[in-house]
Amino acid sequence: MKLRDYHTHNRRCGHALGEIEDYIKAAIDKDLKEIGISDHFPLGAVIDDPQLAEFIKKASMEVEEFPRYIKEIKGLKEKYKDKISIRISTEVNFYTPGRALSRQKEVLKPFMDDMDYIIGAIHDIKWHESPVIVMYPNEEILREYGGDKIILEYFNKLIKLVDSNFFDVIAHFDFYRILFRPNNPEYSQYLWQKLLDLLDKIKSRGLAIEINTSGFLKKLGSQHPDDEIIKEIIQRNIPLVLGSDAHRPKYVGYMFQETIEKLRKLGLSHLCIYEKREQKLEKILYLF
Ligand SMILES: [Zn+2]
Ligand SMILES: [Zn+2]
Repeated sequence: MKLRDYHTHNRRCGHALGEIEDYIKAAIDKDLKEIGISDHFPLGAVIDDPQLAEFIKKASMEVEEFPRYIKEIKGLKEKYKDKISIRISTEVNFYTPGRALSRQKEVLKPFMDDMDYIIGAIHDIKWHESPVIVMYPNEEILREYGGDKIILEYFNKLIKLVDSNFFDVIAHFDFYRILFRPNNPEYSQYLWQKLLDLLDKIKSRGLAIEINTSGFLKKLGSQHPDDEIIKEIIQRNIPLVLGSDAHRPKYVGYMFQETIEKLRKLGLSHLCIYEKREQKLEKILYLF
């Protein structure tokens, strides 16, 4: 069965390589049915500290670039319409203060009709006595604040993301795992219950969760989210989309078939697709 890759980046964000067109060509080469272009939404919409200008350049495109980004995807959608279906999206970094989201919405507003789906993502956390904790291997941070506290704050932020009612898809659900590398976090009963409650909330709000295969590339030993969490997601019939989070054209569709084959054994039967922010379920036909 032909699959769809809903999470890809390109050179605009400052830390990926290749043009959007290179990712589209890679998707055609890999015989994918659809590719979603979902580069990082401009951090500059929220952060205007000149001291962070260099960091921002390496994290996402500039605000002024966003209209050109959308225009380019539209042009390519037309150019490749006989070869592959192309979806328009962006991965928005979620910030806790409400004002940040309203600024992001302001920049997105003229393009809302173009969006097929909007990805919400958490890449860092902070609580009052902590520094900004970026999800990156960091033993010192892990020791100082403790894995439980970090996961708890991540979940608390994810609850706010879900409650914002703005996003369609949640990116890399257990992104915090990268902090624990080469180990995997162990969930206390309290944290696991918190996670299950969060999944119930996601189900009731109708959001989709992403199966993000970049977890393999990051040497986490599995996709995001890990198998144990995916089992709970499948049990609740929460829609799942598939994405590679490719930052290089060669990683488009990375590990898709192996991952789907594995998740089939955990009960996965459908994947979710989006067009103009409308969600549909598609049965997986296991005829690779
Ligand atoms: Zn990135
Ligand atoms: Zn991300």
